[in-house]
Amino acid sequence: MGEIRLLSKEVINHIAAGEVIERPASVVKELIENSLDAVSANISVAIEGGGVSLIRVADNGSGMDKEDLEMAILRHATSKIKDTQDLFNIHSLGFRGEALPSIVSVSKAKISTRNKGFPFGWFISIQGGDIIESGKIGMPEGTIVEIKDLFFNTPARKKFLKTTSTEQRNIVDIISRYALCYPNIGFSLKANERSLLNLSSNIIFEDRVKTILGSNLKDKMFKFSKQISNMGLHGIVASPDVYRPTRGGIYTFVNSRSVKDPTLTAAVIEGFKDMLMKNRYPVAIIFLNIDPKDIDINVHPTKAQVRFKDPSKVFGLIAGTIKETLRTYPWREEGVYNREATSITTNMELHDSEHTSYFTSRQGLHHNDESSHYIQKHMFEKRTSFYTSKDIVGVLHSTYILLQDRDALYILDQHASHERINFERMKAIASSGMTPSQILLNPVIIELSQTEYNALEEIIPYIKEIGFDCAPFGKTAVAVRAVPNPLEKENIKEIILSLIHKVLQENWKGGDYINNIIATIACHKSVTAGMILSSQEISALLRDLDDLGSPHTCPHGRPLYKKITLSEIEKWIGRRP
Ligand code: ADP
Ligand code: MG
Repeated sequence: MGEIRLLSKEVINHIAAGEVIERPASVVKELIENSLDAVSANISVAIEGGGVSLIRVADNGSGMDKEDLEMAILRHATSKIKDTQDLFNIHSLGFRGEALPSIVSVSKAKISTRNKGFPFGWFISIQGGDIIESGKIGMPEGTIVEIKDLFFNTPARKKFLKTTSTEQRNIVDIISRYALCYPNIGFSLKANERSLLNLSSNIIFEDRVKTILGSNLKDKMFKFSKQISNMGLHGIVASPDVYRPTRGGIYTFVNSRSVKDPTLTAAVIEGFKDMLMKNRYPVAIIFLNIDPKDIDINVHPTKAQVRFKDPSKVFGLIAGTIKETLRTYPWREEGVYNREATSITTNMELHDSEHTSYFTSRQGLHHNDESSHYIQKHMFEKRTSFYTSKDIVGVLHSTYILLQDRDALYILDQHASHERINFERMKAIASSGMTPSQILLNPVIIELSQTEYNALEEIIPYIKEIGFDCAPFGKTAVAVRAVPNPLEKENIKEIILSLIHKVLQENWKGGDYINNIIATIACHKSVTAGMILSSQEISALLRDLDDLGSPHTCPHGRPLYKKITLSEIEKWIGRRP
């Protein structure tokens, strides 16, 4: 008895902040939503240190009066809903009255605001939830929220933050999402005084898409719109040859709110079914407008997901509309889809050309330039005979090389093996300091979105070390002028994009860059599962593995083979008890 007590306001705010404010990008999201709810025409964001040292969001919206400013930082204080009825009929982005109190309880904040038509504004400074100063201030109409030292009083939360560049990227991503949804509103983002986004107001949707997702989408975007009883759907899909290696190119919005909902993403992917190969994802922007009474937006702390009254109807509408759009648009006749289809039927040809490429790249190594000398000297010191001492029994499903020795069977993954070989070679080349670069006669130009471009900038010094020469080309394109020696031109774009998307997804730390980059390139250059290797090539592969000291795992740490002993087999068959 007497053990239960009400928590203090401070503790309650910290608990709520833990749910609503995960990282700097969550603060940016909440502040932008507030600016949008306040009918702003321009929203400028400035950040420092990935948003941890500073986030400042300035808008030219309605502003607040002195009384509302004082109320705004109280928990459950909102101007947007009044009663439970409103909760099921939400037309604004915010409604819980939770964001500002949560943010100001875990930071050092200053909110300044000037109501439309008033001669001056009011400000309030808060530290860890406590008001430390307030008063009059001269400023333009609108609101400026300045958040410094995020999580200064919650060190545990701070520890979970990722690198500055990852946090910054999340911020670029959230602003990009809202910018796609509100093309008539101007958005800008500066990071450490450098302009990362500068999107003027009253832009037509297609132009906004091009600035954000990359101008290579020009002529590749197809609009659609569809209306059924209580739902409207519109947006664009990019033709299937503009695929991405992750789901990052799928943008979904419900009632003008950016959501990352698995049902919606799955529906988009379903719409592209059979048009994209495995591990390729579409680029699509979809806006679903639905009667607020048919959804519950109040199911997720950051409102990133929604609950639909009838999810299968939503799924069907999205997947069906996209399918229909892809079926009827002219790009299909122009050959994009047909090209894809023929490349599947002429699989054999493909095998042939890849065939030679394994050999050429292998032989390339034994040529006479300085670096291969170095590699031969240093790598082959490790030579062993684990793989070459075994007999080749055959190949299973053009994917697994079967080997045997006196007492076991070995099932060896040909792709993973080749990946490891490529990885070791490129690493040896990189550490030799004599990277053989191949200058391209015609540079390869790759159009990138702003986010992609920022990610590439992050890795440019590292890829230089292994033989790439990339230079900015226009605003967000890059020209690749030289590549590591045994790299085929056709792969360059795919490799660069794949590197960028790995950086975006995986949050590499300083020391990992070179290894991760090399592992990604190695994977792209490697023979794939299902590719038929000649017996000569299989022997060469085994020799290469042994030259490297017979590694047992691929660069990502997965095993190269599975060993099954004869006695295990005998047990299965029942020859042994
Ligand atoms: P919610 O958005 O759920 O109402 P918040 O804590 O985000 O809760 O904001 C509290 C209130 O402060 C809002 O309801 C709004 O009235 C006011 N407010 C916040 N930001 C702004 C802004 N940029 N411009 C005008 N009013 C704002
Ligand atoms: Mg809000």
